[in-house]
Amino acid sequence: MDLKKIVRDIPDFPKPGIIFKDITPLLQNPEAYKHIVDRFVARYREKPVDVIVGIESRGFLFGSVLAYVLGKSFAIMRKKGKLPYTTVSYTYKLEYGEDTIELHEDAIPKGSRVLIVDDLLATGGTAAAAAHLVEKMGGKVAELAFVIELAFLNGRKALGDYPVFSLIEY
Ligand code: AMP
Repeated sequence: MDLKKIVRDIPDFPKPGIIFKDITPLLQNPEAYKHIVDRFVARYREKPVDVIVGIESRGFLFGSVLAYVLGKSFAIMRKKGKLPYTTVSYTYKLEYGEDTIELHEDAIPKGSRVLIVDDLLATGGTAAAAAHLVEKMGGKVAELAFVIELAFLNGRKALGDYPVFSLIEY
């Protein structure tokens, strides 16, 4: 199935010069959504993973359904101030300024093997921060999985030795 044909390009969103990869047509198309989940399931069914972490907010769309099918624990990683219980946070640099992501303190049991899921890998800043937060909490990053990878932005490089898997590359 050619998922690239279904992803919608939105030029100049959210600011001039960015081509936003809109994944909503993938969700609207039941065969496409199923195809994506099935490919993730095929890859992770036999891999030792204890916890799946979805990155706010589009990572939830793929991470939660994968956790459901595989029977794994699912944790949501959110921007600062959104989670109600006690959190552990990690602050990372952006092009301008900084950002902070959080997980609930009980989301990652020490020593657990963690699969991090998001919709898209661009520069890798968000995903690297997610991996660092998981490690700060005593988890081990098993892999980072994305539906889309913008390979020309070298996100894999920013992720160093962490294993990366993606379904569509640009
Ligand atoms: P980055 O930290 O640069 O790898 O950015 C990754 C995050 O930003 C992901 O959560 C994506 O959802 C979002 N993102 C970055 N660039 C794009 C793009 N061109 N189209 C859609 N989403 C994007």
